[in-house]
Amino acid sequence: MTTYQTSLSAKSFDEHHLWHPYTSLPPTYPNLVIERAEGVYLYTQSGEALIDGMSSWWAAVHGYNHPTLNKAVSSQLNKMAHVMFGGLTHPPAIELGKTLLSIVPNGLDAIFYADSGSIAVEVALKMALQYQLGGTHTNRKQIATTRSGYYGDTWHAMSICDPKNGMHSIYGQQLPVQLFTDAPSDGFDKPLSDSDKEKLIHFFDTHYSQMAAFIIEPIVQGAGGMRFYSQEYLRLLRDLCDKYEVLLIADEIATGFGRTGSMFACQHADITPDIMTVGKALTGGYMTFAATLCQRHVAEVIANSDYPALMHGPTFMGNPLACAVANASLQLLIEGDYPARARHIQTLLRAHLSKLITHSAIKDVRTLGAIGVVELYDPVDMTCFQQLLVKHKVWIRPFGKLVYIMPPIIMTDDEVTMLCERLMTVLTEYFESI
Ligand SMILES: *Cc1c(COP(=O)(O)O)cnc(C)c1O
Repeated sequence: MTTYQTSLSAKSFDEHHLWHPYTSLPPTYPNLVIERAEGVYLYTQSGEALIDGMSSWWAAVHGYNHPTLNKAVSSQLNKMAHVMFGGLTHPPAIELGKTLLSIVPNGLDAIFYADSGSIAVEVALKMALQYQLGGTHTNRKQIATTRSGYYGDTWHAMSICDPKNGMHSIYGQQLPVQLFTDAPSDGFDKPLSDSDKEKLIHFFDTHYSQMAAFIIEPIVQGAGGMRFYSQEYLRLLRDLCDKYEVLLIADEIATGFGRTGSMFACQHADITPDIMTVGKALTGGYMTFAATLCQRHVAEVIANSDYPALMHGPTFMGNPLACAVANASLQLLIEGDYPARARHIQTLLRAHLSKLITHSAIKDVRTLGAIGVVELYDPVDMTCFQQLLVKHKVWIRPFGKLVYIMPPIIMTDDEVTMLCERLMTVLTEYFESI
């Protein structure tokens, strides 16, 4: 028996029955119905083309409906969509592994394929705990991190998210308690401040004996505040982790694959983490997929411990369709030198968006690679904002006080200009209307 009214339009069905990310049901403002997407445009049901400033949350770096990626999926589909990874392996998983190892920071050489970013983070945490259990520091069981971080929405990933943004308080005492230090100061180009340095050293001095690992999003804190910080902070973190035998986990799920102007954000600081997670752009935005990589010593300690198996094994581990499209995506971004393209996009974003800084409602404008952030003093009213987006044919999705863009890396110079101009028009009309 159907429990919904079959007469509901597609849009009303959505509003009545489908939860969307971080929203209530029913939602407080409507979702746009998108019928297809092509290149850097999303097409609404009424045929309007919105220029995409979000890359579907960092993922669609090649835009949409890309012929090379479509072909990778369909030719793999004709061989096999899926086969279990327990006891079996296949060429797409092996080929992707080779390509990944050719571009990740030097020294990472073992890969665990996961189904999503949050799961890759869970696997990284398990790796770290099993590593410490198998080594000499068997009582190191906590994970350390900074405030303002974001690592996903599963239970343990959530426990290391910023305690305020991650809403730790509503989950009460069920959430594991982790170790937090202050977020590094703003500023990619700035040297490490004495206070950041002292704070981090003091944090390690105080807590190292409980710390299995320190996890951080390198250079860019994404969903926790779109903040950029000094590469010297990462170098210091690497040194302290070495000194105290704490594993360093770099979460490159948002920053990986060229977005910040280098293939991986760790490479700005010339460091290799012990464990690294990737996701989001890994399949060029085609499907959910992620990976956790580690250095050989991590795998070896686990292999030689009393619990030599890494205890994780998702049903769809190493899905051949995902591996095939990921491999094709990586080939495109290697051949097209996407990190260089992201650096070029930064010059355009900076030239356009910096004009906004004099506006009295705008607190800060910052850019890094193909990321542009406009920070307001007050949170955005989404109902009003979303109407203006449709009116001016641009798709972005602010959160709180942050209006930010991270366009597909393939976007042309003219399209980046158009995106920035439309965004600025939306902001101008928005400020006039509130
Ligand atoms: C998005 C994100 C995650 C979570 O990935 P999902 O695929 O959404 O589970 C984890 N870490 C960072 C840095 C992210 O940006």
